[in-house]
Amino acid sequence: MAHGLNPSQLSAVQATKGAVLVLAGAGSGKTRVITFRIVHLIRQGISPEKILAVTFTNKAAREMKERTEGLLQRINRSASKRGKSPGDKQGSPQPHISTFHSLCVRILRQDIESLGYRKRFTIYDRSDQEGAARKALRDIHCPTSALRPSDLLWRIGNWKQQSLRAEAAGETVVDETDTLAALAYKRYELALKAANAVDFDDLLLCTEELFRDHPDVLARHQKRFDYVMVDEYQDTNATQYRIISSLVAKHGNLCVVGDDDQAIYGWRGARMENILEFDREFPDATIVRLEENYRCRPEILELANSLIAHNTERRDKTLKPARGPGKPPRFLEIDDEVDEATYVAREIRAAVDTGRFRYKDVAILFRTNEQPRLFEQELRANKVPYVLIGGQSFFDRREVRDMISYLKVIANPDDELSLLRIINRPARGIGDGTVSKLLERAVESGQSLWHVLPQATADGDIPQRGAENIERFRQMIDRYRKPMNNGQISEQLNRLITEINYKGEIERQYKTPLEKVSRWSSVEELVNATSHYERGAEESSLEGFLEEIALTNNEDEVDKDQQLKKNAVALITLHSAKGLEFPVVYLVGMEEGLLPHERSIQDGHRAICEERRLAYVGVTRAMDFLTLSWAKHRTKWGKRRKTKTSRFLSEMNGGPVGFDDETEEQPKRRRAARSK
Ligand code: ATP
Ligand code: MG
Repeated sequence: MAHGLNPSQLSAVQATKGAVLVLAGAGSGKTRVITFRIVHLIRQGISPEKILAVTFTNKAAREMKERTEGLLQRINRSASKRGKSPGDKQGSPQPHISTFHSLCVRILRQDIESLGYRKRFTIYDRSDQEGAARKALRDIHCPTSALRPSDLLWRIGNWKQQSLRAEAAGETVVDETDTLAALAYKRYELALKAANAVDFDDLLLCTEELFRDHPDVLARHQKRFDYVMVDEYQDTNATQYRIISSLVAKHGNLCVVGDDDQAIYGWRGARMENILEFDREFPDATIVRLEENYRCRPEILELANSLIAHNTERRDKTLKPARGPGKPPRFLEIDDEVDEATYVAREIRAAVDTGRFRYKDVAILFRTNEQPRLFEQELRANKVPYVLIGGQSFFDRREVRDMISYLKVIANPDDELSLLRIINRPARGIGDGTVSKLLERAVESGQSLWHVLPQATADGDIPQRGAENIERFRQMIDRYRKPMNNGQISEQLNRLITEINYKGEIERQYKTPLEKVSRWSSVEELVNATSHYERGAEESSLEGFLEEIALTNNEDEVDKDQQLKKNAVALITLHSAKGLEFPVVYLVGMEEGLLPHERSIQDGHRAICEERRLAYVGVTRAMDFLTLSWAKHRTKWGKRRKTKTSRFLSEMNGGPVGFDDETEEQPKRRRAARSK
């Protein structure tokens, strides 16, 4: 067992009883401790299904699953050699390894009825939420100039993170916009409930309420897990904290790992105090510190250490390099943002061509969602395969959303937003007028839109043709329900796509052949996703698939693991780069206004500290080669402006700012070459 663990890590792995806190810097093996701990517990004879590990991203969860599954198979094989019951992989119990959100989905799938929902609930993703927010604002006659749907969602999110439902939120309002928002929140809440839907924050909030108000339910869930572990604990919010503490209240076997220097979700309600005050909450907690960094070369680590030292309120930690010396990080000043992208793309291409590294060894990290566009362009121009993580998600593409809406209606016909999206797409002769009339009937009778569809034929106001089309549509949806619920999703989805002639729709909608091909391949990719799901799931169902994509979508993790496995450069936001590591890292746009972000500069000290941690996360993703770049000029609102270098650069007291020998070649020259 000790193999591959240092003594402190080993002690954290072996301290299985009671509370354990591993508070340690980046790359010190915290995640590794969790994985080994799961394995250790199982080897000690703990039944795997009694173990719960919660991680922050799906990727981390999947990696952990793979490792433990591999080990479990080995244990099973040797057990069968000794003549004990082997149990195949499918049948043998597995530890529960999941993100907070999927843990909550599991719990709610069993018990949401206690909260007055029906059992089969829908999870709204961001665009569903926006639709509902827009509708709520319309309901209260609030113009979007007074409150934008996205602002409303932001406020609702904040309230939910403080565990405030609409009614309670109404009592906290401080200004007029807040009052409007609280009113709209009420509508939003009603609309979701009527659609038997929950949003992402609800997943946590409902679980918290379930545990708080239904002790019998809580008791059942408490009995399920004897050992609980949480990764990236510094980024848990108050609700997550309460869910975990209720779960472990009986036995107190809780191991959390984290790093206060990597707390980067304060803006989303994460409470760093959860980790800093852990030993107050659990006075008998075993506290383990890991002081060696196994990831980064010493030169990179030194930079990270001197940067983070500028944050004042932090637990002092030492982080020493376990690896031998490598190359010093590079500081790269480039004329403008176009050159920055060109330079990086060409350098990567050249390095791969000469065999110095593989595409998948490389990550380009950025702060804002606008930054990657140019990099995408330049990477494409240089024929460098890449994967964008944290940008527009696959599942937000129009055609993908269309097909998912079909699936959602098939799974839950009461899902009105999805139904409205597809009822006449592709056009099938169900006009807006007809739909409005049906909506009126629905409101009058207090039923869902789907339920009033059959009345269309009897409705004198609706033209016979329209009524027939509705009936045909309704029967079609009904026909797919059974086979899809039984798990034949990809096969049926293919059939559906043909039946509605979605290809024709794409042909009509888009002009260029390139666009048609790319849109059509997104549809294909969705079919692929269903079949990947079917192959991976123990028991596949339409609901299960929708759940899975709702969860992956939220974290911008669309196919991330799949993609990262492919040989491609990763383009990632700093927020999604957490927990990952790459041999080669480019941290680009090191400018005031980008990193630290403009908004944080305005918000002041606390926000700047969070930006600094974000920069720290970025730097510590690098194993061997790190490049920090910035552009002297950057276009803003169409105008080229001079930039200011990020304060974090000087804080890293990062040696010479400029080109080192290897990069002496001026990117300027390349500009002439690429101008087309
Ligand atoms: P982060 O804070 O970024 O999440 P972490 O503390 O979770 O980092 P890990 O990702 O677990 O760190 O480990 C960082 C790297 O160091 C991984 O590649 C891991 O396999 C390796 N590593 C950790 N501990 C050891 C060890 N004792 N021996 C060899 N390699 C190790
Ligand atoms: Mg980690």
